[in-house]
Amino acid sequence: NGRNGNGRMSPNSPLKLFGQAKKNINEIFKDVLAFISDADSFVEGIERSGFLDDVQCSEEVKEYREKVCGIMEVLARDHMKVVFFGRTSNGKSTTINAMLREKILPTGIGHTTHCFLQVEGSDSNDGYLLTEEEPDKPKSVQSIKQLASALSNVKLKENSLIRILWPKNKCRLLREDVVLVDSPGIDVTPDLDLWIDKFCLDADVFVLVSNAESTLMQTEKNFFHKVSSRLSKPNIFILQNRWDISAFEDDVEMVKQQHLDRTVQFLCDEVKVMDRKDGTDRVFFVSAREALASRLKEQGTPTPTGVLQEGFQERLFTFANFERVFEECISKSAVRTKFEQHTNRGKGLINDLKTLMEDILQKSQTQIQETTSSRREMADELDYLEKQLLLLTNEIKERIKSMVEDVERKVASTLND
Ligand code: GDP
Repeated sequence: NGRNGNGRMSPNSPLKLFGQAKKNINEIFKDVLAFISDADSFVEGIERSGFLDDVQCSEEVKEYREKVCGIMEVLARDHMKVVFFGRTSNGKSTTINAMLREKILPTGIGHTTHCFLQVEGSDSNDGYLLTEEEPDKPKSVQSIKQLASALSNVKLKENSLIRILWPKNKCRLLREDVVLVDSPGIDVTPDLDLWIDKFCLDADVFVLVSNAESTLMQTEKNFFHKVSSRLSKPNIFILQNRWDISAFEDDVEMVKQQHLDRTVQFLCDEVKVMDRKDGTDRVFFVSAREALASRLKEQGTPTPTGVLQEGFQERLFTFANFERVFEECISKSAVRTKFEQHTNRGKGLINDLKTLMEDILQKSQTQIQETTSSRREMADELDYLEKQLLLLTNEIKERIKSMVEDVERKVASTLND
């Protein structure tokens, strides 16, 4: 599934697709930038020389260069984004921690704030917080306890975003540019429109963390109705969490089938984001708590008794399976949505620049034609002048000759006389 025990990357992880595509597109934009810089010096040279009349486009070329630099900046910040939704205490924070293989988010305290928590990678060695209110005042956090108390101590507006920047070298997902967003419980009277506009329009994947002990709630459904009216075919995964508890019921297979039917019916027939076959592949019966505990155990943290329930291996396997499908989905979606936009803008810029250069070429060709024809006219005039001069010279020669003869004649007759 693309990873080994300590969460290190193996070369065939689906997330690599995004990193590779990002590298490639970045190389292409570097070439585009070099091409525009050449065009810039060329156009400037032409303007300075004054050889061509009315070529005034170096400002325009500079604007193209700025636009390309802008795209490259956005590109460097581009990431894959997943947003988690669900009621308070369904296990959203536990799921995120299990995926990160580290207890980063505080769990089990309910959402004391109505804020969104965004976990993203940072190159520094220690974790820190950034709030919307004070975006340039990082607050240091080294541990989960500190984070919980930092969250309850900072003054926060409702629906604001707290960014948790965590060292990339500690978590594979963060290293591969995945950003994970935890939302306040969907049961705490949310302003869904505001949530969607502010946090979801650039999301590549949505994960609904549902509680397998009950059915999907209307607020949870409403959220996805609204999302799918704003984003065409959003990528939705549904985790039926706390399956470790439900798995002990006598009629477990029937309960499971009921959940599956209802969820698939919702995804495929109600919000119509996928067909029925794909719908089944997007629902997973898991235990985030067991997944987190077993991953922490791999790293040496002992598991408290009673956490791993009978049959936990199957649920762990399902959790890992969810991650694999999720990773394939998020990397493909992010490559398509993020890079397609950049590619189209890049193509547009290159086309504009091409038109501009063709315009200069056209002007220079017209000017060459004009010069050639005026040169030809001038040559004709010179020919005519030359002929006239020749005629004139001959006439003058004749005149001088006859004058000399006349004078000679007159002198001779005078002498005779
Ligand atoms: P959130 O409010 O949705 O972020 O929920 P939390 O992740 O904070 O979880 C709330 C409580 O449920 C915590 O005490 C978790 O340990 C517990 N919990 C989370 N996932 C599971 C699970 O799969 N099984 C069980 N039994 N408990 C879970």
